[in-house]
Amino acid sequence: MPQLPKPYIDQMKHMLGPDAASFLASYNNPRTHGLRLNMLKLAGQDYAAKQLQTQFKLEPVPWCPTGYYYPEDARPGKHAYHQAGLYYIQEPSAMSSVELLSPQPGDIVLDLAAAPGGKSTQIAGYLQGQGLLVANEIHPVRAKVLSENIERLGIRNSIVTCADPRQLSKRFPSFFNKIMLDAPCSGEGMFRKDPEAIAEWSPEHVTMCASRQAHILDDAAIMLRPGGLLCYSTCTFNREENEATIEAFLDRHPRFTLLRIERLWPHRHRGEGHFVALLAKSEEIPPSDKSSLTRSKGTTADRAATEAMKLFHTFASEKLPGLELEDGVPFLFGEQLFWLPYSENGTSMSSFLGGLKTLRPGLHLVTVKRNRVEPAHALALAAKPSDWQSVCSYSADSPEIAAYLRGEALQAADGSIQGWAILTVDGFPLGWVKASDGQFKNHYPKGLRR
Ligand code: SAM
Repeated sequence: MPQLPKPYIDQMKHMLGPDAASFLASYNNPRTHGLRLNMLKLAGQDYAAKQLQTQFKLEPVPWCPTGYYYPEDARPGKHAYHQAGLYYIQEPSAMSSVELLSPQPGDIVLDLAAAPGGKSTQIAGYLQGQGLLVANEIHPVRAKVLSENIERLGIRNSIVTCADPRQLSKRFPSFFNKIMLDAPCSGEGMFRKDPEAIAEWSPEHVTMCASRQAHILDDAAIMLRPGGLLCYSTCTFNREENEATIEAFLDRHPRFTLLRIERLWPHRHRGEGHFVALLAKSEEIPPSDKSSLTRSKGTTADRAATEAMKLFHTFASEKLPGLELEDGVPFLFGEQLFWLPYSENGTSMSSFLGGLKTLRPGLHLVTVKRNRVEPAHALALAAKPSDWQSVCSYSADSPEIAAYLRGEALQAADGSIQGWAILTVDGFPLGWVKASDGQFKNHYPKGLRR
């Protein structure tokens, strides 16, 4: 059992009464490990999904249809399938909040505190490429990890931003119809997994977290459309950051009603524990809320983006002839061409992004070099078998896959492949190679190599 602070033990005894003994005893059990299958890649691939279940000895998580427990020795994070984005490693209780929010294809969703991306990738799985996910993280280093995970899972319709919630709420009033706020908290549910969380805990820290949560919630309230849903979750147990935070929020925001609260406890459920509250914003719009959206006029990059898009189409017609992009517009960011998803009443999302630190304005298509293009890693990861013409394909246990992930060039297995080609592991894209002189030049991003 880890050394727990006395005020924490007293708090839990006060909260749980006779249940506290079994709650505290749960600290003697090993932590749980979980992963969620990525249905953006595995929908309709029942055989592959079954294979994963056998290979990693997966057992279903009761509250999440794509969630599974795995034993510690299965190590799915080390496998090439992880690099191919077939699953996301996530603590099982943390899978409960998105299930309650229940995003649907076409929803306009904000994940306000999103890194490293557990909830965002789960939301994107439900959106199935339709609608929009804005995944925001305030801390730049964590935002980069979030952006990499959005890329790895092949998510096409996400904008990744790095902003303070206050800055976002000025830009996006009444914009989203679903908001996920997985709030920064005192992390009492992390104690089994991360002893540092114990060292940071104190009653004062709990109070500081509750005050920060109140501020972030107020910004979330501004950004939610009338009739929309707000899901608030934490991985902590105390009332102050959970029920009391929600009660105070409802007092400040009479247009909101509480639909449901769920608590997962480590002594009652197989997981580290989670608190989730689902709130709804009423339909009627008081005059004060009718502020117009803050956006700039159409950008001058539009014409250059259209030109870059022509180069992309030439590339895609040869290499990815089946690729169809959902509703969106081209967006050029220096040399980088993105496909920016979704438009708001005919206005492109680009007009909302000026001055906002944006790590990923949609699907990264290509880098434009004079009159040619180099395909982006994200494009390979987001591609589907029906999109590509030719691939070089290897099995997961082949030496070529290990060599590719190390960044090495490969002997060209297939002389018919010319120029750019996607390399797949058991049919799932891992990245690009470029065939030349009997070799596949390695284009796996340097920062991801093993
Ligand atoms: N939702 C994430 C997931 O499922 O992978 C986990 C989010 S974590 C519980 C909370 C996040 O809130 C952290 O990434 C933290 O950096 C961020 N955060 C910290 N202070 C914040 C603030 N003042 N406003 C918004 N987010 C904040």
